[in-house]
Amino acid sequence: MQGPPKSHAAALETACLTATLESITDAVLMLDGSWNIRYMNGNAERLLQVQRADVMGKNVWSVFPEAVGGPYYLAYHRAVETNSVVSFEEHYAPLNLWTEIRAYPSEEGVTIYFRDISERKAIEAEIHNLAFYDKLTGLPNRQLLLERIGHALSLSRPGAILFIDLDNFKTINDTRGHDKGDILLRLAGERISTAVRSDDTVARFGGDEFVVLLEDLGDTPEDVATAAYGLAANVVRAFCDPFDIAGVEHYSTPSIGVTVFDHEANGVDDLLQRADLAMYQAKAAGRNTVSLFDPAMQIRVNARATLEADMRRAVQNDEFMLHYQPLMGVDGRMVGAEALVRWKHPQRGLVPPCEFIPVAEESNLILPLGRWVMREACRQLALWSRDPHSSTLEMAVNVSATQFHRPDFVEQVLAALAETGANPSHLRLELTESLLLKDVEGTVSKMQRLRDAGVSFALDDFGTGYSSLSYLHRLPLDQLKIDRSFIWGAFKEGSGAEIVRIIVALGKALNMSVLAEGVETQEQLAFVAAEGCQYYQGYLFSKPLPAAELATLISHLPD
Ligand code: C2E
Ligand code: CA
Ligand code: CA
Repeated sequence: MQGPPKSHAAALETACLTATLESITDAVLMLDGSWNIRYMNGNAERLLQVQRADVMGKNVWSVFPEAVGGPYYLAYHRAVETNSVVSFEEHYAPLNLWTEIRAYPSEEGVTIYFRDISERKAIEAEIHNLAFYDKLTGLPNRQLLLERIGHALSLSRPGAILFIDLDNFKTINDTRGHDKGDILLRLAGERISTAVRSDDTVARFGGDEFVVLLEDLGDTPEDVATAAYGLAANVVRAFCDPFDIAGVEHYSTPSIGVTVFDHEANGVDDLLQRADLAMYQAKAAGRNTVSLFDPAMQIRVNARATLEADMRRAVQNDEFMLHYQPLMGVDGRMVGAEALVRWKHPQRGLVPPCEFIPVAEESNLILPLGRWVMREACRQLALWSRDPHSSTLEMAVNVSATQFHRPDFVEQVLAALAETGANPSHLRLELTESLLLKDVEGTVSKMQRLRDAGVSFALDDFGTGYSSLSYLHRLPLDQLKIDRSFIWGAFKEGSGAEIVRIIVALGKALNMSVLAEGVETQEQLAFVAAEGCQYYQGYLFSKPLPAAELATLISHLPD
């Protein structure tokens, strides 16, 4: 190998060296100063797929012409020129071989030790795949998406995010099984990918949510927004055709939120939150559509968060109070009052319940608030019973679904009654239809237990909910309250009058009294009385009043 042997000893030495080089696990290739192949061991023959006899003495770059100018070429030259060891990992495409290389400069040229690391590389690639790609769809996963968004933000160039949620995805899972749902997700991922540009990152964010990262859309946020909106519209169009789910046509639509980012963006989380918000906006707009995040939306969201925080404090600070609206017989007798909560906000003044009850329900703040309302109403009821003017009055209290479905709801009401000394048979709880439909058995049993204690029940806003009549007779209800929209509708075009008539008939058949809400005029009162409603409530007689004002009003009523 180092030229012709000069002596016996030298020949022996060469033979030993050769034997060693043949037995090591590395492949070995020795090149002289003119890049001619001087030696290669058996491993090198195998990996490089050549026969020693064919290549010995030939210029290595003529044997492997594809390597000229490439990473191996440069590395070996560097080893020679700098007279230092160069080591690296490289993929040699012609042989589809991953190699780990150490190149040692020698007096004659360079000696190269290398080995096949293709297997290790495959495992590494697999691990990388598992960590960064979604198994089901093969798309980048959340992890990789977050990294890419982070990188995009660091470039300070404007771009956009599409947040895509499949509408009613649950339906296919529920009706045709999860395996069919999986097929839909895979196909949806493919359609999204074809609808955007090939360089865009389409990621599966989780569940039925996909996120697309769009870069290089334009220079100004306006351009970017316009282009992103266009690509989002492409995605919507891509969903027009049915999906073939195991031989059955399935229609699916996406709701897409779009948000634009530039150097001012606050960070990855913030960006995704905005896109998510815009997606919900698209859902609210009726699904199968695109919605662009806009700052006005953010302002509404912030306002809501502030409201929630304020409300948390308000529960502790006693900022809530009850107003009471008289419940009247159509003959003019006052039979009770409905407790309606008010919020004395330190800055905003009196906040109406339609502004904060929905927020309270979503944040579970309705639980402490509802507990407070129940106690306060019972306390007031107990006070009324001690005054001869008001001793017969009933108290109606609104109960929200979250509150009612708590396991300890019955105990809570009974405790409020016991602690305040209020008469249970003067307490009426107002429930809504949607509340009753959830878990009918459990609902009936809760109502029954309270009924046994004397408490009665009214069905609030009747006619606006599901109005599934099949369950009505099973529920221990005492009263139907006709929603005010029908009372008002009765005098306009439409079927209001007809609905009032039907509800009254229903009440009779089920042995429930009927109360008309929102009676504002004499004409309306005459109408509901003629139709057979026994009770009414509305501005005609009185708006909801603070307890003291109600007391004054009661004291002036004729006996
Ligand atoms: P609701 O239970 O249907 O209460 C009746 C609402 O109609 C009250 O609005 C009342 O002021 C209003 N109203 C009564 N008569 C008339 C009328 O002649 N004309 C008009 N235009 N409106 C009339 P309010 O007090 O703003 O309450 C709104 C809703 O908030 C209530 O609707 C109820 O669903 C909810 N709410 C109020 N207090 C509570 C509470 O303590 N707990 C729960 N869970 N919900 C409550
Ligand atoms: Ca009510
Ligand atoms: Ca109502």
